[in-house]
Amino acid sequence: MSGLAAGIRLAHFGKKVCIAEKHGRGGGLNSYYNRNGIEIDTGLHAMTNFIPRGGAKNSPLMKLLRQLRIPYDELCLREQNYSIIQFSSASLSFSNDFDMLKTSISDKFPSEIDNFLRLDSHIMSYNELDVNAPYVSARKTVSGFIKNELLVEMLFCPLMYYGSAVEKDMDFAQFAIMYKSIFREGFCRPEKGIRQLITLLEDRFKESGGELRYNCEIRRIMNSGGKTVAAITSGGEMLETSNVLSSAGSLETMHICDEKPANFAELPEGQLSFIEAIFCIDPGTNLEGIDYSIKFFNETDNFDYCAPDTAYSLRSGVFCCPFNFRYDERKNERMLRLTVLANHNSWRKYDKKTYRGKKAELSEILLKKCGELCGRTDLRQRLVFSDIFTPETVRRFTGHINGAVYGSPLKFKNGRTHTEGLYLCGTDQGFLGITGAMLSGISIANMYLLK
Ligand SMILES: Cc1cc2nc3c(=O)[nH]c(=O)nc-3n(C[C@H](O)[C@H](O)[C@H](O)COP(=O)(O)OP(=O)(O)OC[C@H]3O[C@@H](n4cnc5c(N)ncnc54)[C@H](O)[C@@H]3O)c2cc1C
Repeated sequence: MSGLAAGIRLAHFGKKVCIAEKHGRGGGLNSYYNRNGIEIDTGLHAMTNFIPRGGAKNSPLMKLLRQLRIPYDELCLREQNYSIIQFSSASLSFSNDFDMLKTSISDKFPSEIDNFLRLDSHIMSYNELDVNAPYVSARKTVSGFIKNELLVEMLFCPLMYYGSAVEKDMDFAQFAIMYKSIFREGFCRPEKGIRQLITLLEDRFKESGGELRYNCEIRRIMNSGGKTVAAITSGGEMLETSNVLSSAGSLETMHICDEKPANFAELPEGQLSFIEAIFCIDPGTNLEGIDYSIKFFNETDNFDYCAPDTAYSLRSGVFCCPFNFRYDERKNERMLRLTVLANHNSWRKYDKKTYRGKKAELSEILLKKCGELCGRTDLRQRLVFSDIFTPETVRRFTGHINGAVYGSPLKFKNGRTHTEGLYLCGTDQGFLGITGAMLSGISIANMYLLK
């Protein structure tokens, strides 16, 4: 997503630009595939940063559309109904109308509502886009406003699941980005799923004169004397260039550079990965009462966001009902999606047969978990098909070390690397998620290649 967005900007301004993607399809972590004649989004639960038509011009989504010259209506965004944060002793609801969260906090934590509103004002006036800002602990900052620990944990849960590469805590700037994009703006989905967005981006890129090469892996980045010289494809072709913008990840990119940075061995690998399960159930299944779009759940009152010691953990997760968005047409498919934290080492060490067996076993366990979350005991009988992604799937399909969906905990906020003409965009620049990745591509292209 970040690569496509950057490519569009560069092509618009007449740069000779080529996107090299090692897979046969675009979208990276958020692509699509077909199963049983049904198109499935590999990742998409929801896009963040929803803004209604004609909404604030300086909002991230509006800026993004302007920069890519995409008319708002072409995205066909459909809003969530509402979402839930469910912990063992309390639950909160929020929607794209901020008042729902305020009311929910005021009902469940009456003594904290003023503190929450003070935190909200602090975040709304905070400049989270300052690329030179030092790390500030979000936990410390938030706890300076809110005294009730349970409420603090509950606020962190969705923000970490949808955007933290760091375990346990996050940078306050990242917290502020996620807070604004989820609680202040909110969730939506393109009417026809992620393909709609990818096709739009690909078409815009090609119309603007960009060259899009699929099944084209970059195996080597030639840099010499601190300068970028060329990129070499898997086919052995040399693409001569003094500027490479990489969305492959920081370490992943440096691995293929001829000259590595002096601190290469000390750069931290991402550790956080997830299991993503998709269950397609019979459309006739009665899911009455399940009208929320996304439920963020945590089995206890302490939210422990870190890679589990075991292959996966059911102690917390994200349960998504993609059919509960406000579509124009009722969806025929009934998909249920479940994301839980996973340990990449466990999945890597299995041989092929054990790996398949573990996946099948886990599929049953996660289906049962979905049943518990939506109060149904017959999902097994209602199942049309299921699929599961492990950290290994993410690693194999995207090249992300350890299958770390949000990349390295160390972000390169200004996009610069050890080499002139080699820039990072997307996940390891630090803007996460679909909207974040596109904004990252645009910002880095604007900052360094379109001066
Ligand atoms: C299961 C799952 C669910 C998700 N759900 C959501 C969601 O609901 N909402 C949301 O906003 N975000 C979601 N995300 C996160 C979101 O998909 C990512 O944050 C975003 O796609 C990152 O985009 P990117 O451009 O930084 O990088 P990536 O998507 O990682 O793209 C990098 C691309 O580079 C290619 N590549 C890597 N190395 C090379 C090489 N050497 N040569 C050529 N090509 C190479 C890869 O194949 C890949 O296509 C989800 C992610 C996952 C895995």
